Amino acid sequence: MKLTDRDKKVIWHPYTQMKDSSVIGIIRGEGTYLFDEEGNRFIDAISSWWVNTHGHSNKYIADKISCQSKALEHVIFAGFTHPNAVELAERLLKILPENQKKIFYSDNGSTAVEVALKMAIQYWANKRIEKRKIIAFRNAYHGDTFGAMSVSGRGVFTEPFSSYLFDVIFIDDPVKGNEESAFNQLKHEVNNGNIAAFIFEPLVQGAAGMLMHEPEILEKMILLCKENNIITIADEVMTGFYRTGKFFATDYINEKPDIYCLSKGLTGGVMAMGVTSCTEEIYNAFLSDDKTKTLYHGHSYTANPIACSAALASLDLYEKRECLENVKRIEKKHSEFINRIKGNSIIHDIRKRGTILAIELNAEGNTSYLNSLRDKIYDFFISKKIILRPLGNIIYILPPYCISDNDLDYIYNCIIEFFEQLK
Ligand SMILES: *Cc1c(COP(=O)(O)O)cnc(C)c1O
Repeated sequence: MKLTDRDKKVIWHPYTQMKDSSVIGIIRGEGTYLFDEEGNRFIDAISSWWVNTHGHSNKYIADKISCQSKALEHVIFAGFTHPNAVELAERLLKILPENQKKIFYSDNGSTAVEVALKMAIQYWANKRIEKRKIIAFRNAYHGDTFGAMSVSGRGVFTEPFSSYLFDVIFIDDPVKGNEESAFNQLKHEVNNGNIAAFIFEPLVQGAAGMLMHEPEILEKMILLCKENNIITIADEVMTGFYRTGKFFATDYINEKPDIYCLSKGLTGGVMAMGVTSCTEEIYNAFLSDDKTKTLYHGHSYTANPIACSAALASLDLYEKRECLENVKRIEKKHSEFINRIKGNSIIHDIRKRGTILAIELNAEGNTSYLNSLRDKIYDFFISKKIILRPLGNIIYILPPYCISDNDLDYIYNCIIEFFEQLK
């Protein structure tokens, strides 16, 4: 029996209406490519849900994982430690801004956000200061667990659960032309007081449709929070690890947030792992003879040694000159493509930051995740052997950094072909 037929009998897929779903059975990955059970080769233009950076089945990372699995596969991380966890924390703190002093491990992006929220909320509780409100962007996406959903924009993803989510103050996304209004909303809420934390995706709001804003407005917002003693949380789960052209999106600004959430590219997209880092000031608020001030949070696989080895190997590859060169090359290719297509009447907006290119198409009706163009776009690119998963009417490319110029050109040409057949 085909893999896909066996799948249909037993699997419930994420973000998938199973009633009329079809899946492709992938049996092998190599660099930018994924191979299905029928021998088709697909270009992975979205880095397998935004995680892959060094290409699939990278041999260097695979070897490190293999070695580690024979030395130590897992150990409880309460009361014990191991070399990989310590080395990874040391290396991450060297790369993170100087104000970041401690690393807390978890399992994925959502858990990294949960930990960040708990750090921020309990920080004020431990200090016996009444600050309870959290501010987020209206179309934020911070993950699918309940805390992460609470600070995410309310929409189709969260609708059935809305009455179970905690209250959050949403301010406008500071996208082009909306900066002042967003800033004034933030200022208004800050002046009302009682704000514990402000959480945001720096520069690129991924799931919202690759919405983008400028470093200047973000910096202004962070500064305002700092002046008012509000904890700032950068969710760099998607933007980290060169995705936006610099190592972190917040490297574009001087004001540094108090807490960072990392995941996706951390292990190069090889193992599930989350990291939440924080300042000394936040960490110190949990030090006490009073046991109730402890951060009681942990997961079975916290700081899994094999996941840590994947992250360490991935960091080795990020440090190679070739990695940043590839990122710059992709940026340049994207810019050239924008020049080729700008002015096309089908296009509503084109956005680019680093390796991310987003093209928002003019669309009838619902211009959101559920837009009917979505399936048309997806199916067209699958027929071209490109994995490109649009967000509604928004086509985006978010490739592994090892993608070749040829493959980029092929994707660009297929996008133009798609425009032609829409006419
Ligand atoms: C993907 C994502 C998350 C959630 O990460 P998971 O590993 O899918 O739980 C959180 N924040 C941002 C910005 C993301 O893009």
